[in-house]
Amino acid sequence: MRDTQFFRRWMAAAADVVRREAARLTELDSPIGDADHGSNLLRGFTAVESALASEPPATPGALLQLTGRTLISTVGGASGPLYGTLFRRAGKELGEAAEVSDEQLRAALQVGVDAVAQLGGAAPGDKTMLDALLPGVAALATSYRAAADAAEQGALATVPMQARKGRASYLGERSIGHQDPGATSSALLLGALADAAGE
Ligand code: ADP
Ligand code: MG
Ligand code: MG
Repeated sequence: MRDTQFFRRWMAAAADVVRREAARLTELDSPIGDADHGSNLLRGFTAVESALASEPPATPGALLQLTGRTLISTVGGASGPLYGTLFRRAGKELGEAAEVSDEQLRAALQVGVDAVAQLGGAAPGDKTMLDALLPGVAALATSYRAAADAAEQGALATVPMQARKGRASYLGERSIGHQDPGATSSALLLGALADAAGE
């Protein structure tokens, strides 16, 4: 079973990896976006760390919901509402349980990813975060590390895709040949989850 402390470790690992990789995320967002994805997430996850420290949530569900709300109010751009929805919806799904099973977490993240797809209207192959999140969350049935690896493969697979959603879609065929920044950060967030699980 996974307690609130496990989710704290996940968010701490997420903030750490975002700090380490912010420059690369912004660099990926420069040829096919507006060069702010790393700084957006850095602002967001720094705010998440402060929020979790100043109003410590009592349950995994409350922690994910606070994370989602904080990302929505601080990140802005496309990724703020999308990641915010992922965590809020997953947190809501976990309810008020003090501990959740890996299967409950997997199911909740699947609901969160489905909400991201609904909000953003993107389908697999549109060169978005969903191209990492969908295979990643599907592989959670195997293990946390398998999920991180599948998401990483999903992010790499966005390189030859033409973007059909978000800013990169304005470039049409010129979006081909670049890795999607949001798919890349999604893989990092699932990597942080595997780290929290000690896998
Ligand atoms: P912005 O594009 O507003 O500057 P960010 O740079 O923070 O926001 O995030 C860009 C990322 O958001 C993209 O790389 C893509 O993965 C994701 N994204 C954009 N639009 C959508 C959408 N409609 N559905 C899913 N993901 C999206
Ligand atoms: Mg951007
Ligand atoms: Mg922007």
